[in-house]
Amino acid sequence: MRYLITGGAGFIGSHLTEHLLERGHEVVALDNLSTGTLDNLAGVREHPGFRFVRGSVTDSAAVEACMAGVDAVFHLAAAVGVFTILDKTLESLRTNLHGAETMLDAALRHDVPILVASTSEIYGKNTADGLTEDADRIIGSPLKNRWSYAEAKALDETFAYLYAVEHGLRTVIVRPFNTVGPRQTGRYGMVVPRFVKQALAGEPITVFGDGQQTRCFCHVHDVVPALVALLSDETAYSKVFNLGSTEQTTIAQLAERVISATGSSSTIAKVPYEEAYGDGYEDMQRRIPDCTRALEQIGFAPSRTLDDIIAAVVADQQGS
Ligand code: UDP
Repeated sequence: MRYLITGGAGFIGSHLTEHLLERGHEVVALDNLSTGTLDNLAGVREHPGFRFVRGSVTDSAAVEACMAGVDAVFHLAAAVGVFTILDKTLESLRTNLHGAETMLDAALRHDVPILVASTSEIYGKNTADGLTEDADRIIGSPLKNRWSYAEAKALDETFAYLYAVEHGLRTVIVRPFNTVGPRQTGRYGMVVPRFVKQALAGEPITVFGDGQQTRCFCHVHDVVPALVALLSDETAYSKVFNLGSTEQTTIAQLAERVISATGSSSTIAKVPYEEAYGDGYEDMQRRIPDCTRALEQIGFAPSRTLDDIIAAVVADQQGS
């Protein structure tokens, strides 16, 4: 198979690229290198089955140039990270809305299946214990910039769904819940690589808010095979799937665990949200997936624990 991966130089995209090449497939990676980097692709740049194209998913000519001979598309490219969304809100909104539309149009023209990466953020402030795919969205004010990411991704889902219903396009929608692992950078806000970097440098660990907010972190190596399995399964078309771990941690506990995993002398510094993010931010207090649908569809059952994830991120940042 020849796959197009948008965002192929990003964190998840580069792991997916490696995974597919290792299994004998060809990969075309389209990336504008806004948050992705060629360093992420260092291990595959010389691979005969790999081609990198620098360009934006909002540029239909660039997209078209990548589509020749492609059998299926993973649309992962997006403006990501809370800092990115708050710093470049309008640009991010455009990328996240128009990018998906452009990719769906291209997939339709070439009649190839497409997986669209949405996000667990679309559930917003719904704190249900086990969010199923049809759980309600509880989103804050449209003038709180943080929500523009969730709004764009929710519309991407609607686009994908309508392309399937009205045009028969083969689409799969996934909602990853806090995917983490080697190569993820903390530069754009993601908490695990930030805490690990701070711990390794002996700097204070910056816990935003009171630290009682919870998340479930899932290893990228558990997520990537699920993406492939879902796009390869025609009974998954027109459906949406949560992908995440159900191992819950508070952010304060995460800080403690990172300190103990690294043996760091770092202290914990509580930082008010306002100071951390400025205006336009609201947090989600709790976000736990119910992944029964993905379990039943493809046997999705993440095997890596939070301790495994922290260890992998530490090893990555130590260069080992
Ligand atoms: N967070 C934190 N310190 C940091 C970065 C993030 O306490 O240096 C918090 C953030 O406010 C949120 C949680 O960690 O409550 C997860 O943040 P992230 O941006 O990684 O993911 P998301 O909020 O999108 O789930």
